[in-house]
Order: sequence, then structure tokens, then C-alpha cells
Amino acid sequence: MAATAIPIDTLPSVNPATGQVLAQIEKTPPEMVARSVTLALAAQREWAKVSIRERCERLRKLCDVIMVSRNELADAVVNESGKPRVEAIFADLFVALDSAEYWSKHAADLLRTERVSHHSIAAKAKSGRLIYEPLGVIGIISSWNYPLAIPLSQIIPAVVAGNAVVCKSSDFTPQCGALIEKVFDEATFPQDLVTVAQGSAEVGQALIEAGPDKVLFTGSVATGRKVAEACAKKLIPTVLELGGKDAMIVLADADLQVASSAAVWGSYTNCGQVCLSVERLFVEQAIAEEFAELCVEKTKKLRVGPGSDPSTDVGPLIRPQHVQRMLDLVEDAVARGARVFCGGNTRPDLGPNFFEPTVITGVDSSMRLFQEETFGPILAMQTVKSSEEAVQRANDSPFALAASVWTKDVKKGQAIAQRLRAGAVMINDAISYFGIAEAPHGGCGASGWGRTHGRAGLLEMVQTKYIDTDQLPRSEKPWWYRYGSELERAADSFLRFEFSRGAGAKLRNASSALKTFFRDHGL
Ligand code: NAD
Repeated sequence: MAATAIPIDTLPSVNPATGQVLAQIEKTPPEMVARSVTLALAAQREWAKVSIRERCERLRKLCDVIMVSRNELADAVVNESGKPRVEAIFADLFVALDSAEYWSKHAADLLRTERVSHHSIAAKAKSGRLIYEPLGVIGIISSWNYPLAIPLSQIIPAVVAGNAVVCKSSDFTPQCGALIEKVFDEATFPQDLVTVAQGSAEVGQALIEAGPDKVLFTGSVATGRKVAEACAKKLIPTVLELGGKDAMIVLADADLQVASSAAVWGSYTNCGQVCLSVERLFVEQAIAEEFAELCVEKTKKLRVGPGSDPSTDVGPLIRPQHVQRMLDLVEDAVARGARVFCGGNTRPDLGPNFFEPTVITGVDSSMRLFQEETFGPILAMQTVKSSEEAVQRANDSPFALAASVWTKDVKKGQAIAQRLRAGAVMINDAISYFGIAEAPHGGCGASGWGRTHGRAGLLEMVQTKYIDTDQLPRSEKPWWYRYGSELERAADSFLRFEFSRGAGAKLRNASSALKTFFRDHGL
């Protein structure tokens, strides 16, 4: 092979703003992935012996390394995902740093051994404890849209809990993947503890095939289904973070200036390529017209361009096929009666993947725009007569990731939040809970299962082991052999003693119940 030829086993790092190939990153041959998992397991066995305090200390170092490397990391995110640098800083870097900071401070407390008190008399003579043990090797398969925030906020709690990680980063963001491995190396994590496998579907499949102890998958519903099937065949437990179709409910009493800014940002941030994007707006009739006008006015002021230009608000979509999808979705909605207020066109003058931020009203559930995940810069709105109708329509979706409610009446907002089918509901804000380390993230239905982030996310990374210590080691248990009609009667008295209502019934059965405890076993 000539020295300048590109080896075929590389992944191109492509800038979506220009379509230009920035670099070629070496692919991980699928047959090497099993070896990475084996090496990770060996590293994990040693790592699990390191005290949790020390593991937390290592996370502080990771935080420092990320801070020092933040410009390099932000450049990679902007170059490969196309988002404006401000978003790379606020979303990717902040979430990664905050995750390292949070778990370094709180993991030890949250994984501390817990005493379990027993309510039943039958178990009173036992002391119970819960301990949280690492699972082993966690396989993380990730999407491209937050190429640092998502994998790092999953890898960090995995390793602090004592696991190793083999992460299959997205083939759209290979430089970001390479940098993830680099920051763990620089923070002096043990060799092989955190490995990044580079490649497409076949590398993800090889990772599952290698039999990690758990798989955390972030991506589309279609791939999630394949991952769930492949894992089920091997009985590998999964967390699936899939798509969203988040509703934003704007009540008539909402602050319309604030809510319209939120709708615009929530629909277009990261060019709408966010699992938590505002994808379905339900606006109460009384304010619908004014609200739509505000959204249009604000949308028209946004500057579309490459993420590397500091004045850009909305960057490009990730690939040309995503641009075509936006055109198809708009065409379908218009054909069924929706109205485009602004946008709706591609911007080939800016580059191959630009699409104008678009406001569409009169959208309803007959249209693809309300059925499928949009994953692009389209603000789609439907007018509703009441909050009741808004709740019904919001819940009328196979997706159930998150939602938001906008109102000055916080109690009403909270009451509506309880009725929405979603893993998280924000009142008077959208999306940003993803950056709150304590807040669990995840949904149900087509949005997947399990949780990342927060204590619920940490507990996905461990096995909960119950340890029972008997306090009467010199006595045989009442339920042991041998059996007979006397024991049967005593056992029934025991049930009546435990579960009858009223002190009288309990007293009447106490002495015969005690016979179950103090008897000659006859063995
Ligand atoms: P995708 O499903 O195309 O790919 C996700 C990952 O899976 C990639 O790394 C890909 O290479 C890998 N993969 C593909 N086929 C595979 C297979 N058969 N076996 C194993 N791995 C395989 O998704 P994407 O385009 O990268 O991401 C966009 C999607 O991710 C959107 O639907 C978005 O909503 C979702 N997402 C969800 C969350 C969440 O937290 N719920 C967060 C971000 C993105």
C-alpha cells in the first residue's frame, strides 16, 4: 500500500457543516472487541479492590483533565457534531464535568452498605444488610448527538461503582470517542479499564456478542430493538435510552415571552437533534395565535451557520439523509393541512446539511411530524381547547421520555406533570434536567427502559446483594424438618398470630404459634 493511501479499516471524521473529511480514525476490528472485554474484566477485578474513596479521587483527577483539555474536546464536538461551540460547552462539557464532580463527591455515600430492618416476627432474629457490588464489564453503545455528555455521564458512574467499560462510540463522532479514551488515560485510570471501540453496527454487535455484564444503549428505537433482542438471547441486562417525542404544554396563563423563547430553543438546540427536543407543542387556544407569532418572530432572528462561527445559533444536521427527512416531514404535514409559518427549506448556500429552523402550526396526530421522532429543527404546534385536551394529546404517543408544562400556576403545573406519561416532566423549563446530576433520565414505551443519571442510574451499574446474618445460630429454624400435623397446626396459629386483625386474635394464637419456634425437630 502506498504511504499516502487511506487504509480501508478507518472511520472518516466528517464535519457536517462542510461535508469535509477531517481525519481518518482507526476502526476496531470486530474480532478485537472480545479481547477488549476480556482485558477489561481483568482490569476490573483489580479496580474493584480499590477503595471507593480512591475511585472517587480518580474522578476528581478526571474532572481536572477534562477542564485542561476543554478546548480540544469542544473543538472535536463542534467539528464532528456540527453544534455551536456554546452548546458544546453548556451541554457536552458541563454535563461531563458535573458528572465527574458529582459522583466523586457522592458515590461513596450512595453505595454505602445499608442496614435492612425486618418487619416480620419470623425474621426478627436476623440482621440484614444490602451491599452494592460492581457488575463487571459494562458495554456502552452510544449515539453521536452528545458525543461526550452521553457516554461520559454513563462511563463515570460505571467506573466509580467498580466496573470496567468498553464503549462503542458513534461512528459519526470517532474523534470524540478517541478523546474519551485519552482523558481516562491521562487521569491515570488503570490500563484497559475504559476502552473505546471504534466502528459501526458490526462493532456494536461484536460488543454484545463478547458478553459484557450489562449493556447501556443510547440510540434509535430501531437499533434499540435489535440490541434488546441480541442481549436477550445472551441474557444480558440492558438499559435502553431511545428516542423521544417530548410534549410542551403551554397554558393560557404562561409567561408567553419566556415560553416562546423556550419553545424556540427547545425545538432547535443542537439543530433539534436531541432526544429531549420539544417535538410536540400543545398551546391553549386563547393564546395560540400570539404564541405562534412570538415563535415565528424569534425563529426569524436566529442565525444558521457552522458551529465554529461564534455568531451561529443553529448549526447543520448531521448528514444529508437527515435533511431529506425534514423535507419529507414538512411535505407530509402540509399535504395534510398544516401551515408553514417560516422556514421549511434547505440552505445549500451554507453547506450540504443545513435546514432552516421551521415553525409549523395545525399539526396533528395524523401527520408524521407528530408520529415519528423529528430529530431536526422543526417547531410543530397544535392548538388545544383546554389543559385536559393537552394532557390527552401529550399522552397519545408511543414515546414517553420527557415533557414540559408552562404556567404561572405552579400547583396546576405539578398536577398536570403527575398525569403525563413520561420519565421526567419540567415545569417552566425544558430539556435542562439532563444536566442535573441527581435527576434520573430515561423513559418508558418506545423511549426505552432503565435509567441513567441520579441514584437510579448508579444502581443500574451494580448488583444489589443482600447479606443475612442469623442472630440465633444455635437454634434450628421452625420451618425445618421434620413435619407433621402438630407442626401444621402450629404453623396455622403462626399465620393467625401474624396476620389476624386485633390484639385479641393475636394473643389467642400467640402461645401455639410459639410452638413453631420451640419444638423438638425429631431429627
Ligand atoms: P442509532 O440507533 O443509529 O445508533 C446508535 C449506536 O448504535 C451507534 O453507535 C451505532 O453504531 C450503534 N449500532 C447500530 N446498529 C447496531 C447494532 N445492530 N448492534 C449494536 N449497535 C448498533 O442512533 P443515532 O443516530 O446514533 O442516535 C440518534 C437516536 O438516539 C435518536 O433516536 C435519539 O432520540 C436517540 N437518543 C436517545 C437518548 C436518550 O437518552 N434517550 C439520547 C441521545 C440520543
